[in-house]
Order: sequence, then C-alpha cells, then structure tokens
Amino acid sequence: MSLRQECLWERLTPQRPSAEALRGELKVDVCVVGAGITGLSAALHLLEQGKTVCVLEAHETGHGGSGRNVGLVNAGMWIAPDEVERKLGAAVGGKLLATMGAAPALVFALIDKYGIDCQARREGTLHMAHNARGQADLQSRCEQWQRRGAPVELLTGAACQQATGTRRIAAALLDRRAGTLNPMAYTSGLARAVIGLGGRLFHHSPVTSLERQGQGWCVITQGGAVSAEQVVLASNAYTEGEWSELRRNFFPGFYYQVASAPLQGEPAAGILPGGQGAWDTRQVLSSIRRDAEGRLLLGSLGNGAAKPLWFLRAWADRIQQHYFPQLGRVQWQSTWTGCIAFTPDHLMRLFEPAPGLLAVTGYNGRGVTTGSVVGKAFADYLCQGGAQALPMPVQPMRKVSVAGLRSGLYEAGFSLYHAGQCLRVVI
Ligand SMILES: Cc1cc2nc3c(=O)[nH]c(=O)nc-3n(C[C@H](O)[C@H](O)[C@H](O)COP(=O)(O)OP(=O)(O)OC[C@H]3O[C@@H](n4cnc5c(N)ncnc54)[C@H](O)[C@@H]3O)c2cc1C
Repeated sequence: MSLRQECLWERLTPQRPSAEALRGELKVDVCVVGAGITGLSAALHLLEQGKTVCVLEAHETGHGGSGRNVGLVNAGMWIAPDEVERKLGAAVGGKLLATMGAAPALVFALIDKYGIDCQARREGTLHMAHNARGQADLQSRCEQWQRRGAPVELLTGAACQQATGTRRIAAALLDRRAGTLNPMAYTSGLARAVIGLGGRLFHHSPVTSLERQGQGWCVITQGGAVSAEQVVLASNAYTEGEWSELRRNFFPGFYYQVASAPLQGEPAAGILPGGQGAWDTRQVLSSIRRDAEGRLLLGSLGNGAAKPLWFLRAWADRIQQHYFPQLGRVQWQSTWTGCIAFTPDHLMRLFEPAPGLLAVTGYNGRGVTTGSVVGKAFADYLCQGGAQALPMPVQPMRKVSVAGLRSGLYEAGFSLYHAGQCLRVVI
C-alpha cells in the first residue's frame, strides 16, 4: 500500500459519534461552539454540574486539531517553567504551571471515568536532545521541573539509548506525568460521554452569527438558532466565519504526520519500547511515536497537504534512517495535516468579551491536556463564578499583527528546513 493523504486516527476510530444538523430553535443553559477537546470537555463538565448544554460543530466531532494531533498527553507548556513565570509573574505563572503539570492526570481520569477506549498509555513522554545545546536546554528544564517537585528525569548514556531506541540522542527528558493516546478516539469518547449525560450534539451546523438576546445570547447556524444564557467559543485554530473576532487573535501554522505500516520484529520492538511519545529539540522539531499496532509515526511543523507525496516520503525516510537505521526500509502509508493556533508569546489566551461569553485560543500545539483543562475550567467558572476557577486570567481580545506574514514566513522556514534535511544539509 503506498503513501496516501488520510488521517490515521480516523481510520483507527471507526465508531465515531454521528449527529444530525440543527434544524429549528432550541433553548439551553449553555451553547458550546466546536466539538473538539475544549468544547466537549466544557460541555461534559457543565452537564456534570446540572446545566443543559448543546454543542454546535461546523463539520463532525474531531474535525479540528483534536482529531488530527500526535496524541501526546503533555505536562506543562512548550516554554520552560522559569520562562512561564518570567512572562506571567510568579503567582499567575506558578498557578498555570501547577495546573498544566497536573493536566495529564485530568485527561487520564476522564478516560477512566467515562471508559474511553483510546489506546491511552501512561508511561510518560521523552523530549530528546539532538545536540549539545539541546542537552543543555533539557538539563535546565529538568532542574526547573524538579525544583517544582515534578517527577522528571534526564536519561543519558545506555538508559537513554534503551528508552529511545536510537544512538543519535545523547539525553532525553523523561516526564512520567505524561503519555500518549489516539486523539480521535479520545475526542469521540468525550462526545459520547456528553451525549450520555443528555447533552445535545449537532454536526454540520456552522455558527454564522452570535447576537445578544436580553441577558443571554442567540447563536445562529445555517439551519437553526439556539437561545442560551451563556456561550463557550471553542473553535480555536479552526474558527470559521467572519462573525468571530477570535480568528484575529492567533496566527495559523500547520503540522503534518507520516505513519508507517505496522512494524514487526526485533528492530521495531526496540524503538521507544516503553511506549513513550517523543520529540526532539530541533527548532523545527520532529515528533516520533508508535501506535497500538506498532506503526511508526513521524511528524513535523509545516503544511504537508501542500507538499507532494514524494517529498513527504523522502523526508520520513531521512528522519527514520537518521534515528532508526536498524529498521531498514520502511513502508509509509498515511499522511495528514492539521492547523495550530500560534501566539507570538507561545501562551494561550482566554477571553470574556462580554458577560456570559467565554473564548480561548493559542494552545501553540499543546491542546490534548490544555483543551481538557480549559474546558473544565470554563464549566467551573460558568457554574460557580470566581476567576480562581480559570488557569490564568482572561485578557482583552488583541489582534495579532501581520498574522498572514508570520504564517507565511514560518511555513517558508519549515519547508526550507525540511528540504535541508532531505538534502542532508541539516539533520
Ligand atoms: C497535527 C497536529 C499535531 C498536534 N499534536 C499535539 C499533541 O501531540 N499534543 C497536544 O497536546 N496537542 C497537539 N496539537 C494541538 C491540539 O491538537 C489542539 O490544540 C487541540 O486539539 C485544540 O482543541 P480545541 O477543541 O480547542 O479545538 P479543535 O479541536 O480545533 O476544535 C475546534 C472545532 O470548532 C469547529 N468550528 C470552527 N468554527 C466553527 C463554527 N463557526 N461553528 C461551529 N463549529 C466551528 C471546528 O470544525 C472544530 O471541530 C496538535 C495539533 C495539530 C494540528
């Protein structure tokens, strides 16, 4: 079977929830826009607290980043803990770090509570140093997390080789809080839990406008309208429609993955044998993980949907040969791409543009845990009030300047880097 454009997670999750489009009028306590991890976590936690809820999705559950990502259940954020506190201050930064450090536990608790079959593994993640500078960065991250009591450990020498399955990595930061899953199955499981608690889910119902209606809101779709006291906008990087100011608060970037056929035999068994998901310290990083059937999944920043399949195959061959030459020639089967909401400071943004209206964006490629946390926090905030329910304060909406130019420059930089990798100029 040759390489084709197809999201592996969709193929591995045949039992995805089905739902009708909204027709006519509906009244609920809270209307959630977007059936990704954020929206569904919000809906689930609102339902648990007795609210009536509907979720409006423009396409189908998991259409956005939630159904397409690498499936790393990360602890913390991209930027190192000290930098988070430097940017946000000790109190706000410290609270955010504590919340995000505990975020994988929330994801795994939801999986257990609702019996979500998503091939979850709880053995941690490995951040892999590709050179001496990367190793120094990981050493520093390790110390910063250990100072905060996190169960992280820098693996070196034989322990590192054994855990990663490659001789090309000198050190790897093992974060035992984290793990991996099939993100489409997790998202679908959240949707089923929402339906199970009496939530209404509507597919193919893009929101086309949002209007104030007394103290509440009227959320209008192509085929119907929802009256709600409160609204959660959870459309994030996939926000559709000119009506939403949210899309001006991030700049979009892309991430692609390439998955092999299931790999068998001894050489394959030695790659990430502990089941951790991994990524390297390159500025244009490569992610590496196995799935439950032994496939090798490689990924990197950039729009794979705009690249020819031969280029993606050549890139995947190059990364695999660099890290895992013991595999010989690997057959690549699926490739897919998703969109990420980036912010210039690499931090997410929470908004409350009007009473009873909450929105979020800018997970910067870390949404499995962040979306689960923010969804729960939004629910707690709407049900109980009090800013302490939120992982960080809301802020005014602020347009990201020259967003188109930023996206274009990033994409050009990623493409050049990958071409350099294929030509062995960089690796
Ligand atoms: C390829 C890739 C790899 C990634 N890897 C990881 C990873 O390994 N770990 C990690 O933690 N994070 C990762 N991320 C980030 C993570 O996937 C996202 O941050 C997260 O899924 C965002 O979830 P969400 O629910 O906020 O938004 P989304 O999942 O994007 O959901 C938004 C939904 O809103 C819907 N929508 C948009 N506009 C409207 C409208 N007008 N009306 C109704 N519905 C609308 C969309 O159709 C979409 O379904 C990755 C992202 C990508 C793209």
